Amino acid sequence: MSDEQLSFLDEECDTAHVDFLPTREAGLERLKHFAPYTGRAYASGRNFDLGADNRSNISALSPWIRHRLISEDEVLRETLKQHSLQASEKFVQEVFWRAYFKGWLEQKPDVWRLYNKDLKSAIKVLGKDKNLRQRYEEAIAGNTGIDAFDHWAKELTETGYLHNHARMWFASIWIFTLKLPWELGADFFYRHLLDGDPASNTCSWRWVGGLHTKGKNYAARASNISKFTNGRFTGHMNLASDPSPLNDMREADAVPLPIQESIEDKSYILLLTEEDLLPETLALRDEPKAIIGMLSAEARSPLEVSAKVIQFTQSAMADALERAKGHFGCETTFCDKEDDQLAFLVEAAKANDVDTIVTAYAPVGPVADRLAQIQYKLGEHDIKLVQVMRDYDAKVWPHATRGFFKVKKQIPKLIDQLNIS
Ligand SMILES: Cc1cc2nc3c(=O)[nH]c(=O)nc-3n(C[C@H](O)[C@H](O)[C@H](O)COP(=O)(O)OP(=O)(O)OC[C@H]3O[C@@H](n4cnc5c(N)ncnc54)[C@H](O)[C@@H]3O)c2cc1C
Repeated sequence: MSDEQLSFLDEECDTAHVDFLPTREAGLERLKHFAPYTGRAYASGRNFDLGADNRSNISALSPWIRHRLISEDEVLRETLKQHSLQASEKFVQEVFWRAYFKGWLEQKPDVWRLYNKDLKSAIKVLGKDKNLRQRYEEAIAGNTGIDAFDHWAKELTETGYLHNHARMWFASIWIFTLKLPWELGADFFYRHLLDGDPASNTCSWRWVGGLHTKGKNYAARASNISKFTNGRFTGHMNLASDPSPLNDMREADAVPLPIQESIEDKSYILLLTEEDLLPETLALRDEPKAIIGMLSAEARSPLEVSAKVIQFTQSAMADALERAKGHFGCETTFCDKEDDQLAFLVEAAKANDVDTIVTAYAPVGPVADRLAQIQYKLGEHDIKLVQVMRDYDAKVWPHATRGFFKVKKQIPKLIDQLNIS
């Protein structure tokens, strides 16, 4: 790297420090600060994991993007205001990776179902197999003796965030060196990441293991770790040298993408979930009569979800409800009991004399699983749940049928169609 590029990786640089404050304002502020670096500087510096005190070379926007406190099209628009598509190509592609994984899982929901089923089985085995349990506990506590891995296990639980390269190395060591079930590793991430996402997380773990791109796995190497951590971890790591990819003969059937439901000309209640906390820009007809917030963060895992993740989603929801109240000028309430949501919605519909509840489309994951259960029961009360898709998802997801390349090829066209440039 040139001296010029290195100075941008400086700990004193104004983008080095990140507080993951769960508000839209904080997300927009981070975007404003990082946008000038989304061009060639990002392309050359992004692979370096400089540690939790220096995030100058990556946007660290994922916790905000994941909850749609800020949207992908906003991030792309700000980027393309400051750089040409050619100069910011790498960053733009990374942003599209997210929609690629979301669209891919949407069309292969069995992958999510099987992950949950296999995770439950793996947790059961932990209860019976003492040796496996000990190795698992050492891994999540950061007590394996592999310095870098132990550091990342602690960094994840302490900060709720890991650099992309650290996630790849960590997952690879988990699967191929420690030989632990990948589902338990994905679950560990999902319980602790502030950006924990059913699609990006599940698909990325499968990608590292060699299940997403069949037969192609990712092998972590000590020399690569040493180089891209700027020499923070240089010791002998004894990592699996030429691991074989995981194998899973079960084929997930492809299902069609959802069709946008029409919002009839009726009074409705607006429901906010952690999948989309930007109701101001949803394509809605008229004003809602009331707004309700509900969370499914505890449903991310059969095991305990970290207090940091719960707090992040609760505060992000509070921020969204506050904004929605100002924007739509109606009452907002938060249903704080995850097992009481159906009764809460039925009660609210009756109190407001409406038979329609509208929400942003919930992609495959725990929120969608819960909405599917609720939707069925709401029907028994003659209440309809309508899920509104965003144009961005509706335009990108159809291309996410195979590898990322298909989406990548469409990026210039998509940017045009979405009026982003
Ligand atoms: C094993 C593993 C697990 C992961 N789990 C998650 C997860 O639960 N949630 C999550 O959002 N990302 C996940 N990722 C993807 C990626 O690591 C993070 O999105 C990225 O590190 C976030 O940091 P950033 O915002 O600085 O990214 P930047 O490099 O600044 O990229 C900008 C944005 O693009 C998107 N993005 C970047 N890289 C990826 C990618 N590889 N896949 C999908 N989207 C991407 C994110 O929204 C990100 O905020 C995982 C990757 C791996 C290898």
